Amino acid sequence: MDRYQHHWKDGTPVHLPLGKIVCVGRNYADHAKELNNPVPAEPLLFIKPATSAVHVTRPLALSANQGQVHFETELAVLIGKPLTNASESDAQSAILGYGLALDLTLRDLQSQLKEKGHPWERAKAFDGACPLSPFVAVEYFGNDCITFNLDIDEQRQQSGDTGDMIFPIVPLLAHISRHFTLLPGDVVLTGTPSGVGPLRSGQTLSLQLEDQLSVSTKVV
Ligand code: ZN
Repeated sequence: MDRYQHHWKDGTPVHLPLGKIVCVGRNYADHAKELNNPVPAEPLLFIKPATSAVHVTRPLALSANQGQVHFETELAVLIGKPLTNASESDAQSAILGYGLALDLTLRDLQSQLKEKGHPWERAKAFDGACPLSPFVAVEYFGNDCITFNLDIDEQRQQSGDTGDMIFPIVPLLAHISRHFTLLPGDVVLTGTPSGVGPLRSGQTLSLQLEDQLSVSTKVV
């Protein structure tokens, strides 16, 4: 398979390797509620490997006989500096850019694994499980909350606003860095708002990040 490489929105490569994708589950109360999950007292972290990353514009292929594949639209943070036991100001200055990601999840398999108390990797870490958009440099964003959307076949499906996060981005990065070192090129997925659902072949997904970025992809 082709190795994934980060890009800026103008198409130029980001000269940093993707090492890992650290994800947070249940970071929006309305999404925790829609899956009947309790809101966690501290961030629920898991990792997708670099091999799960693909460019979001590549058509999304549904794996056969694995049950439902759910989309979760998430703000993706591109890390530009190493972070270990970081302060919030270090975490803030390590943000190189923002993009959008789909945290694809084999929901039926995840439910079976959760029921048995087993790790989730087979449901979350498979090849292609992390479509990523190009990134927009952090300088293009102000200090306000960041909003993003997913439309499926021109219908609004998910709307995110970082102001609704249970664990906001900067404290979240500092928290993650107490458990795992974040390296330049790593990506942090910050959780999905409500509205997740199964992908169906033939759908067109359009993702928008404020007025900075708009990308589309198809389910085949
Ligand atoms: Zn997620």
